Amino acid sequence: MHKNFKGIEKTVYGRGSFNQLGDIINEKRNDNDKFMLFVVDNYFKGKELEKRIPSKKEDIVKFIDVEAYEPTTEQIDNLRDEVKKSKGIPSAVIGIGGGSIMDIAKAVSLMFTNEGSSTLYQGLNLIKKPGIYHIGVPTISGTGAEVSMTAVLTGPEKKLGLKCEWTVFNQIVLDPELISSVPRNWWFYTGMDTYIHCIESENGILNNAYSHSYAEQALKLCRDIYLGNKSGQTAENDDKLMVASLMGGLSLTYSEVGVCHALSYGLSKILGTRHCYANCIAFNHLHDFYAEGVTEFKTMIAKHKIDLPQNLSKDWTADQITAMAKVAYNLPHMWNHAIGPDWKEKITIESISELYRRL
Ligand code: NAD
Ligand code: ZN
Repeated sequence: MHKNFKGIEKTVYGRGSFNQLGDIINEKRNDNDKFMLFVVDNYFKGKELEKRIPSKKEDIVKFIDVEAYEPTTEQIDNLRDEVKKSKGIPSAVIGIGGGSIMDIAKAVSLMFTNEGSSTLYQGLNLIKKPGIYHIGVPTISGTGAEVSMTAVLTGPEKKLGLKCEWTVFNQIVLDPELISSVPRNWWFYTGMDTYIHCIESENGILNNAYSHSYAEQALKLCRDIYLGNKSGQTAENDDKLMVASLMGGLSLTYSEVGVCHALSYGLSKILGTRHCYANCIAFNHLHDFYAEGVTEFKTMIAKHKIDLPQNLSKDWTADQITAMAKVAYNLPHMWNHAIGPDWKEKITIESISELYRRL
């Protein structure tokens, strides 16, 4: 079976395009209970962007701190219940922030129409009804969350996305001006998520001309941004990074991620390490699997003088390592893509534990 993927319905791209958000949402203002729900990264509270949010007096603007932890099922259920109780069902949900905020916007839009707790829907195609109209406005680029069909949530039992075609945003607003304030380390780690998406998408059995075309272009952009003569956090590179993130996301959608993301999921689930940072920690040691990519990655780390801690595993217990290896092992689609259909003959919990001990 080939993938049959629903894309974003509308995309606006360009410097200053955030100013069009008001007109875009005005078309929806008569839907449902006639108010908008904005979920906004708390970083923007009191900043210039707060004043530019096109909210009206009936709307709810909810600032959310994403610093402490990644989105949880409990957080989504509470947000849905609170908004429903106070005003009903919004006309649209608008997420203004990074992967965390965009996942919150996607998830809560689905939970306004699907009953019970979001824990019931963690997995593929478990959602029963389309969500309400939802718009993504990224303010940090790299995860591809703006284009993906999943909203990753950490629940009491699993870290797993609400994944279905209704998760995909109806509209995205890509305004590169919004990412200029991202701190340098995050700019690097989150941008590297795109780079790693492409390397993993390309190196595996599911790669095809379609996924390859997106990866090739996204990698070219990443090389300009992180390696070229004009590399660094400039306006021109921010323009490129926003597009690279989108294309990297599309590449993996039509192919798959691999060993690095499997290890990264283990780190996030057991130790709470954040996605993009966890990827960088793991990728640095995956020369056996992605030789050229890892060499290039190390050049980028050196060029931008990024701190990437080493010897982390010395502080991990054997039980923690085994628990991480089990999480990683239980992502068969990633191993199948990276290693091949006979991956179980080559990859074991022990061999994955060995990879964790390298970190
Ligand atoms: P994030 O949303 O977690 O934000 C990272 C940090 O950057 C936060 O401290 C945030 O406040 C700050 N920040 C964001 N925009 C800023 C700006 N313009 N200026 C200054 N600071 C800013 O970052 P992320 O890396 O984009 O997202 C990670 C999350 O995305 C994880 O929860 C992960 O599970 C999820 N994820 C989702 C997908 C998907 O397909 N849905 C894919 C990969 C990762
Ligand atoms: Zn990723």
